[in-house]
Amino acid sequence: MSDLTDLGIRQIRDGVAGGDFSAREVAEAFNAAVAAAKPLNAFIVETPDHALAAADKVDQARAAGETLPPMAGVPIGMKDLFCTHGVQTTAASHILEGFKPEYESTVSQNLWNAGAGMLGKLNLDQFAMGSSNETSYFGNVISPWRRNDGGNAPLAPGGSSGGSAAVVAGRIAPGATGTDTGGSIRQPAAFVGISGIKPTYGRCSRWGTIAFASSLDQAGPMARDVRDCAIMLEAMSGFDPKDATSLDLPVPKWEEGLNASMAGKRVGIPREYRVDNMPEEIEALWQQGIAWMRDAGAEIVEVSLPHTRYALPAYYIIAPAEASSNLARYDGVRFGQRDLPEGANLQDMYAATREAGFGDEVKRRILIGTYVLSAGFYDAYFTQASKVRTLIAQDFERAWKRCDVLLTPTAPSAAFALGEKSADPLAMYLNDVFTVPSSLAGLPAMSVPGGLDKAGLPLGLQVIGRALDEQGVLDAALAIEERAGFVARPERWW
Ligand code: GLN
Repeated sequence: MSDLTDLGIRQIRDGVAGGDFSAREVAEAFNAAVAAAKPLNAFIVETPDHALAAADKVDQARAAGETLPPMAGVPIGMKDLFCTHGVQTTAASHILEGFKPEYESTVSQNLWNAGAGMLGKLNLDQFAMGSSNETSYFGNVISPWRRNDGGNAPLAPGGSSGGSAAVVAGRIAPGATGTDTGGSIRQPAAFVGISGIKPTYGRCSRWGTIAFASSLDQAGPMARDVRDCAIMLEAMSGFDPKDATSLDLPVPKWEEGLNASMAGKRVGIPREYRVDNMPEEIEALWQQGIAWMRDAGAEIVEVSLPHTRYALPAYYIIAPAEASSNLARYDGVRFGQRDLPEGANLQDMYAATREAGFGDEVKRRILIGTYVLSAGFYDAYFTQASKVRTLIAQDFERAWKRCDVLLTPTAPSAAFALGEKSADPLAMYLNDVFTVPSSLAGLPAMSVPGGLDKAGLPLGLQVIGRALDEQGVLDAALAIEERAGFVARPERWW
């Protein structure tokens, strides 16, 4: 049954509904793939029984002649940032080790209601802070990809949704949840040659998702192609009264609405989306993407997003500021780890727990965030960054007068080797340069594979759309997907 793992979400859904195979057979095949994938270190917890139980429910419903829900029989990976009832949820941090939530996040519940099952909880950068998966307490995920130039250096799967990226690219799960605060769905998707969409801020409920930076955090799907992303995003999205920033709007039928024709549409090319030392291949792929858009019927217009260069510094003030306040709740009293040194008082216990529980990158962000929010510096940093954020949103507003979607590279590099950037936080932060602006503006944005670089590694193209226009983003991504004909996949070495 191993060939069942070659199937994507749509094929599994349709095959189960049509009786070509049972949901149990699918779950068993993917459970076996998970068990065989240990060298990738993509899972923190494996949950084969959850996948089987969900599958059996689907098989019984089908046998009883019931209408199957939209992700019936599809086993997925769940980023370990989503709280799952009774299943350890850690955000890849020691401070939450052993934490078994008493509740289910809205996004995961929506997926179970849609008939999906869970293969396991996926590794990530600690509290979703990182671009390489190297900040996980549980060790980094290793990308299933290798360079074809003889170097066998283990590569970063991207981050923070690195486990999600690795399992989808490695055919270990047909789809996985991701979260994206400043690029954590799109950059890893680009690094491993899969698709991933961050919807408009507010489409997916944040309830039960461990908070990093609440004004930026959005969940979204990572899957093998655009259609699979549309299917999964529909299942994940929806109004949730438990999240005050959740959008009270119906979920559009994105899959049904898919249309790869770009006739009558204008695609904006932001001239500021270039960085020093960007590999020529990325520029070349961007030009290729422009040609594909033209071929699909679009008119190409050059646009300017003049505040782009301030997005990264603004993000690295706002996100740590929000994180420092969100992470104050981990005090050794309510969740996970507690360190109680001999004779310690309450204050000592907080300090010892946080010292032992948080990793270095998390501590760095808490320090930065506390600093930029402190009385003497608040205006100089946080207020200023918030103003820059408004200017960035206004840049996009102006661009929408001239175009319907924007096309850019997803990241300024292909996957880098593990260890290559981990000693230099600024070099790491720079990898988010193209994904962060749309996060600050709350806009939907998607990465779709475009091609391979000289070393045989995937490169992604990013489509950014107007608020609430996920359909426009998915359609443009589909037009690219149809023309790119990207079929490359990592050779199995694990
Ligand atoms: N790499 C970015 C950061 O470290 C984005 C992370 C994310 O989107 N969760 O903050």
